[in-house]
Amino acid sequence: MKMYFYYGAMGSSKTANALMTRFSWEDKGKKVALLKPSIDNRDGVDIVKSRAGLMAKAILIYPDSNICDVLPDPVEEYDNLIVDEAQFLSKAQVDELREIADHGTFVMCYGLKADFLGNLFEGSKRILELADSLREIVTMCPCGKKAIMNARYSGNRILYEGEQVVVGGNESYMALCHRCYKKGIIPSEALENFTLETD
Ligand SMILES: [Zn+2]
Repeated sequence: MKMYFYYGAMGSSKTANALMTRFSWEDKGKKVALLKPSIDNRDGVDIVKSRAGLMAKAILIYPDSNICDVLPDPVEEYDNLIVDEAQFLSKAQVDELREIADHGTFVMCYGLKADFLGNLFEGSKRILELADSLREIVTMCPCGKKAIMNARYSGNRILYEGEQVVVGGNESYMALCHRCYKKGIIPSEALENFTLETD
């Protein structure tokens, strides 16, 4: 079967899309597993939650996990594996998902393409290399252009250095076009609107 990558910047409703896809497959009587790499602890241990308020329990994939080992049932029984926050998968885990897709299970990965500096995540890089189909989920910069950067900011200052992933961190991110990303400052009206925005 096919391996898909649905990618987009922060706030592009990836998680809501993942949860709706899961619902529609299960509604048709298909067996679906919702998975999530464990590095992201934003919403508690194993909860996948979209900003619109949809949430579900996910099976956690630890950094050294084999995908087949974390599934409660044999992998052949699943029609579809949906992975949220797929950018945090390891290269080996993406390779395993590719094998699983080759053996007859749909694999749908949802995640960010690049980090706050614009560098590909390890998992995203490998998915881009191996996926049958790439689908962009578009989100807008406050200026109205398409957002491609995930700016990390503190106060209203955009940060241009730091670790790719801050475990347990409380960083703020905003999806921006490249031109706004380079300005170094997030406009105050964008910050005000952002706190009201739901995804
Ligand atoms: Zn912009």
